[in-house]
Amino acid sequence: MTPDPTTPPARPAPVYAKMAVIGGGLIGGSVIRAARAAGVVGEIAVADAKPEHRARLEALGIADEVTADAAEAARDADLIVLAVPVMAMGEATAAAAPGMKPGATLSDVGSVKAWVAEAMAAKAPSDVFVVPGHPVAGTEQSGPDAGFASLFQNRWTILTPQKRADAPYQAAVERLTDFWLGLGARVELMDEKHHDLVLAVTSHLPHLIAYNIVGTAADLEQVTQGEVMKYSAGGFRDFTRIAASDPIMWRDVFLTNKDAVLEILGRFNEDLQALSRAIRWGEGDKLEALFARTRQIRLGIVAAGQESAEPNFGRDRRG
Ligand code: NAP
Repeated sequence: MTPDPTTPPARPAPVYAKMAVIGGGLIGGSVIRAARAAGVVGEIAVADAKPEHRARLEALGIADEVTADAAEAARDADLIVLAVPVMAMGEATAAAAPGMKPGATLSDVGSVKAWVAEAMAAKAPSDVFVVPGHPVAGTEQSGPDAGFASLFQNRWTILTPQKRADAPYQAAVERLTDFWLGLGARVELMDEKHHDLVLAVTSHLPHLIAYNIVGTAADLEQVTQGEVMKYSAGGFRDFTRIAASDPIMWRDVFLTNKDAVLEILGRFNEDLQALSRAIRWGEGDKLEALFARTRQIRLGIVAAGQESAEPNFGRDRRG
């Protein structure tokens, strides 16, 4: 039969009839907006601890229900997504647990996985499927107004399923994968400890370096604060964007991914020592070889579609 051109194409059935998000900030608010835009969920409830954030979530009208009570949000939900700071994940699981129905999937968006997986599993009801996750996407902003629907487009979401092979659990993992694919993300399954090591390299160490370099510049006595601001386009301002990231979130990341961060930091310090030596002894060939290699990494990130090819992030484009 020829399709009727006046009938809009049927939307795919939602992956989950009801989703509850606990923590309606940057990431929780983005999950809500993206899920709504993609039609991958039916009803959406959001719980947030902060009255000002609940007022904003109400005003934005992005969810069907806004509440302070995590258990109320979780009631009848097929998917519960925890989007609170890493060290609040256990407490948020415990708060939502009384509302969770048997067979529901409990996931999260936390930047650290081994610690969070353990905290969630300890507090979740035994008849709920716990599938930890981490969308590797974000900005330096926080709160409900910072979220946007396209945040996860073409970005990776890493799921770190528990080591169990039973069919119902596998089905829960597949369903959660479909959910993230629906949000425009690419999905990879990974061991939780490996996730924490990879992210220590690609995210946690860069943040630590940015926090440190901005702190050092702020403390320098020979260079005034005014000069730091005025000449920031020399590279410093790129670090300040990262160093403006949420202090609570990042405190939690370093405290809960301590081993991996310290391991990578040790390696970084050795490499930095080697660089100091090369500068001290005028070994230009060593510097040049490293800088040529790192430029290739940047080109690889652009080629992988994870960054724009525009010079200076497109900031200098004339409108
Ligand atoms: P956010 O914007 O600060 O949002 C978190 C929200 O949760 C805030 O409204 C917060 O209120 C609320 N909250 C805190 N504890 C709560 C609790 N126990 N119950 C209910 N609500 C609670 O933070 P975010 O950037 O979205 O980060 C959320 C999670 O996403 C973190 O685990 C982080 O590691 C992960 N993540 C972040 C990024 C990023 O780039 N930001 C990227 C990927 C993953 P208060 O302000 O009062 O605490």
